Amino acid sequence: MKVNGYAAIEPRAKLTPYSYELGAIGAEQVDIKVSYCGLCHSDISMIKNDWGMTTYPFVPGHEIIGEVVATGDAVKNVKVGDKVGLGWMSSSCMSCEQCMSGHHHLCAKGEGTIVGRNGGFADYVRGHWSWAIPLPKDIDLSKAGPLLCGGITVFNPIILAGVKPTDTVGVIGIGGLGHMAIKFLKHWGCEVIAFSSNPNKKKEILKMGASQVINSTAPEELESITGKLNFILNTTNVSLDWNSYLTALAPKGKFHTVGAVLEPMAIPAFSLMLGEKTVGGSPIGSPALTKTMLDFCARHNIYPEVEEFPMAKVNEAIEHLENGKARFRIVLKNQ
Ligand code: NAP
Ligand code: ZN
Repeated sequence: MKVNGYAAIEPRAKLTPYSYELGAIGAEQVDIKVSYCGLCHSDISMIKNDWGMTTYPFVPGHEIIGEVVATGDAVKNVKVGDKVGLGWMSSSCMSCEQCMSGHHHLCAKGEGTIVGRNGGFADYVRGHWSWAIPLPKDIDLSKAGPLLCGGITVFNPIILAGVKPTDTVGVIGIGGLGHMAIKFLKHWGCEVIAFSSNPNKKKEILKMGASQVINSTAPEELESITGKLNFILNTTNVSLDWNSYLTALAPKGKFHTVGAVLEPMAIPAFSLMLGEKTVGGSPIGSPALTKTMLDFCARHNIYPEVEEFPMAKVNEAIEHLENGKARFRIVLKNQ
């Protein structure tokens, strides 16, 4: 099958139309006709080869919503005609200890949708059936894409850290991931404090459910909440004054990053020791938890705030996100 997509031909290049053949479908694979695809900051990092693992021509896109149009002979769980989502991962081995424990997202042989293969800024994409997540009935397909990467990435830490509804929590960076984190944590029952570097976002952030917004880049402003937060989730990829965030944690508090900060993070040991605080991180989440998150969203009517661009205007969309103008997640629509 011929696929028409958009690719960067070299690091930092603008995306240009690019066609390729998918070849014969594997026994456990599904082909998905893409209707929508979210634009995640990781797509931009991959276009630039910031993480040293991009192959070119590079077709980004890993927050995919579409319909299954073909299945291999051994596919389970989904069938032709099903509406599914495909996120950061497109396959896992299904037999290692991590997969057998339900942690498919930690599979060492797992394959990223845009790592060494072509992603969802295209009319079709292929993946293993286990990562083609069936969508809840009646979910708004035009807004669901960002849940498949950004959404599960901020939902998983809530489970991993055992966040309680009585907790006071913080979210750093209110972009694509951060704004979904606020919505999840608010519906979880928490008091949510947002940390943002952009004062223009304040009104919208409060509307999403945050009780206050603190300047993420002004450590002195964090002094007002010293020892108050049970959990802090970082979604930025920049270096901030991490110690002031550790100081904002309550005893036994947890600091968790999903933002791909490139520089080593300076974490003074004493800031951890005295209050029995911990620091962690995580990638996306398992297929089963992704399904649970989608059901949670459907139950509470939680959707990302999306700005829609036609797929053909992908370069404008990327520029909009890079300029900090996205409110709050961009979704590309196939015509
Ligand atoms: P995004 O929409 O661009 O949001 C990032 C936010 O970080 C911005 O909206 C901004 O929030 C804040 N920020 C940016 N530059 C800043 C600066 N110089 N100083 C202070 N704050 C700054 O990106 P995203 O798609 O949410 O992705 C966020 C990060 O998560 C990226 O590193 C991405 O690669 C990573 N990621 C990780 C996983 C995973 O599995 N762990 C999955 C998906 C994405 P304010 O305007 O509110 O300050
Ligand atoms: Zn992503």
